[in-house]
Amino acid sequence: MVNKIKSCRSNISGKGLFAQKEIKKGETICFMEGDLIDIDEMIGRIDNGFEKGSDPLGVDHEMYIDLDEPYRSANHSCDPNSFLRGRNELIALKDIKPGEEITFDYSTTMDDNRKKIEDSGGILWTMKCKCGSKNCRKIVDQFRTLPLERQRYYIKNKSAPDFILKKFAIL
Ligand SMILES: [Zn+2]
Repeated sequence: MVNKIKSCRSNISGKGLFAQKEIKKGETICFMEGDLIDIDEMIGRIDNGFEKGSDPLGVDHEMYIDLDEPYRSANHSCDPNSFLRGRNELIALKDIKPGEEITFDYSTTMDDNRKKIEDSGGILWTMKCKCGSKNCRKIVDQFRTLPLERQRYYIKNKSAPDFILKKFAIL
């Protein structure tokens, strides 16, 4: 499935993930792969300077995938054209044309344990957003900080990984 995508320079930020061919709405784009690590290992890798805060993808309660290339190139958008299903399956939210950048909403994968991270001397990761979409939230933060309407939208449409759907299903 890697031949559906490639990493190249993005207008959003640094490198991005781009479609190599047409991808239909609902189609699997790729599985986001890398080392499966728990929160302690994630904190350790960041402290050790091996990783930037933006590389671990939340896939389960206090579990992360430390993404390999080209998956770690995937940029955030507040108006994304893909989402994570299950744990790490990236699915097209709409039809994607060849050459179009593939983005997902990072907040849909973010439910970090603030206490654990702060106790280790770290800070909860956030990012200023310059995605350019008209509903841009200007900041990428935890799922629980999204406007309630937005949380409900993602839950109702099952456009988030299972651990988020399960935890926030009561909304
Ligand atoms: Zn944005």
